[in-house]
Amino acid sequence: MAGRILDGKKIGAAIRADAAEAAREFARSGRPPGLAVVLVGDDPASAIYVRGKIKASREAGISSETHRLPATTAAPELAGLLDRLNRDEAVDAILLQLPLPDGLDASEFLARIRPDKDVDGFHPENVGRLVAGLPGPCPCTPAGIMEMFRREGIEVKGSRAVVVGRSDIVGKPLALLLLHQHATVTLCHSRTRDLPAVCREADILCTAIGRPAMVRADAIREGAVVVDVGMNRAENEADVRDFFGDDEKRLARFRRNGYTLVGDVHPVAMRERSSAYTPVPGGVGPLTIAMLLANTVALAVARQSDR
Ligand code: NDP
Repeated sequence: MAGRILDGKKIGAAIRADAAEAAREFARSGRPPGLAVVLVGDDPASAIYVRGKIKASREAGISSETHRLPATTAAPELAGLLDRLNRDEAVDAILLQLPLPDGLDASEFLARIRPDKDVDGFHPENVGRLVAGLPGPCPCTPAGIMEMFRREGIEVKGSRAVVVGRSDIVGKPLALLLLHQHATVTLCHSRTRDLPAVCREADILCTAIGRPAMVRADAIREGAVVVDVGMNRAENEADVRDFFGDDEKRLARFRRNGYTLVGDVHPVAMRERSSAYTPVPGGVGPLTIAMLLANTVALAVARQSDR
């Protein structure tokens, strides 16, 4: 059986179109929703992510601004900027791009963002709201995955869901969201004993590990829905051939760029054993950016109705 592709680009575009519509509606109140992105230091990957987020938010009619600070920024300076953004009436959503340079403690600054402007849902108050099942901003990647299930008609209620990876950004919040949607959830990590056996129990298998093609056919139940969050580089030809067989397009991409992206799940095993799966790239990635836009507009609307 070849699984159906869960096309993140298409689903993400639909989420973005809905966010743009909601942004237009909000703008009738006199101004567009406002997103402020804070980028500290010169991590090249972060700079690329931030550019993509700003471009997408502008396309959706969100007024967005980037605040760039040097890697040498001292804690009081970053705190001062966040305080100013917290007070700025035209800013509805604040995103602090991670990782921060050494010497700046991310948890301290995430907790400094006003909870009602916390677009990533990382503030401890919003984490508590998520645990309690109360409304509030939710981390974009897991929120995007749940939105994909809803839009694709994938039944979560009553399913057995296995999440591999327990990060605060993906694995843990995803497990909670699945639980709130009445899945029976198992959350795995690096100390889980006999991981393939646990994964084989899953009707819905989600991986957020960061290990190229680590999850193999023996861990995928025939007909499972597989959501692969991992974004890893395959950097040698033997690996690329192992992961993608003789897929000429992949080999060409690898030869051109010196790497190709692969998820946490072996691509051939995922395609052959699942009933539906998210490809890498083009699966979960586009959902994450789309949910940033949806979260920004939702925060703007919530603040407006609180006034
Ligand atoms: P983290 O490194 O924070 O967490 C990785 C998790 O995987 C940890 O809980 C770790 O366990 C677990 N793990 C590591 N090795 C194993 C193993 N051998 N067996 C079982 N579990 C293991 O990663 P993130 O959650 O931030 O990201 C995970 C992946 O998702 C990365 O590839 C990242 O690039 C990608 N990503 C993609 C996004 C997208 O939009 N597509 C968004 C965010 C992330 P332990 O806790 O025991 O150490």
